[in-house]
Amino acid sequence: MSALLEIDNLQTVFSTGRGMLRAVDGVSIALNAGEVTGVVGESGCGKTMLALSILRLIPPNGRIQTGRIVFEGTDLLSLTEAEMRQKRGSDIGMIFQEPMTSLNPVLRVGEQIAEVVMLHRGLPRKQAQDESVRMLAEVGLPDPSRRAADYPHQLSGGMRQRVMIAIAMSCHPKLLLADEPTTALDVTVQAQILDLMAQLQKKNDMAVMLITHDLGVVARMAHRVAVMYAGRIVEMAAAADLFENPLHPYTKGLIESRPGACGKATSGNFKLKTIPGTVPSLYALPEGCRFSDRCDYASETCRHAEPSLEEVRTNHCVACVLHQKKIAG
Ligand code: SF4
Repeated sequence: MSALLEIDNLQTVFSTGRGMLRAVDGVSIALNAGEVTGVVGESGCGKTMLALSILRLIPPNGRIQTGRIVFEGTDLLSLTEAEMRQKRGSDIGMIFQEPMTSLNPVLRVGEQIAEVVMLHRGLPRKQAQDESVRMLAEVGLPDPSRRAADYPHQLSGGMRQRVMIAIAMSCHPKLLLADEPTTALDVTVQAQILDLMAQLQKKNDMAVMLITHDLGVVARMAHRVAVMYAGRIVEMAAAADLFENPLHPYTKGLIESRPGACGKATSGNFKLKTIPGTVPSLYALPEGCRFSDRCDYASETCRHAEPSLEEVRTNHCVACVLHQKKIAG
């Protein structure tokens, strides 16, 4: 199967007052149609910058230094800004964490969907307005014709996120980038939005890149998972394989520090396991493996050279000398 999106050795850098910072550093990953790929990691690990790089929406002090982002055979980095604008919102949809910052506060939500439909699908206004009501119904908004006339502030957080999904889906994207789509929502609404996304993903056979810090969300939604740490992918595998047999000490730490990991989350005295230390500053990365300062298994070897991501079992890649030694030996 050829991938819908193939990212090869992507490096996104930022010039700052404190020097050059590599927010995404040598990331390679492929996304297939009909598959949800979860990208997980703590905040600051580069997962949002990865999504913004795909969309070519990185902040002005950043740039893509090396790599290729090939979508359906075309390197997105070779497109003009006008061509890229056409891709965004049509072939590639996006949903962000806080819909209030993405929605226009002074435009009725129905109009916002209609604008996108007119721009990307070329429908006349009346048809685009009908389509916006149909989309609001599809994402489960009650009384969609009345809701289409609402402004974003008149809707709840869950309804606003449904509107964002309606906007993203209105052009039938082949790829959906969803960055912490449910983080701002309460648990019940979160579950409803994830169910809605799963349903639309299957119906439209979309590729989805689901970016989250929440392993519970990934376990529920993703077919494959990439774990990021300090700008790099440190482990990548099918979701079931990753949760059953995590190889990288960081992945193991993330899984063990999940509420409910030991089935005792509700017990009064239970203390969750945590990963010691904090994510290193991208300005001052440790020598060798970036996780070495927090890793129980760190040895001198780990501090000499940075381990590369290698396939150590079928479709299971990890960047850790513990497993690379096993291949060699
Ligand atoms: Fe730990 Fe070494 Fe593996 Fe890094 S390479 S994760 S420090 S064992």
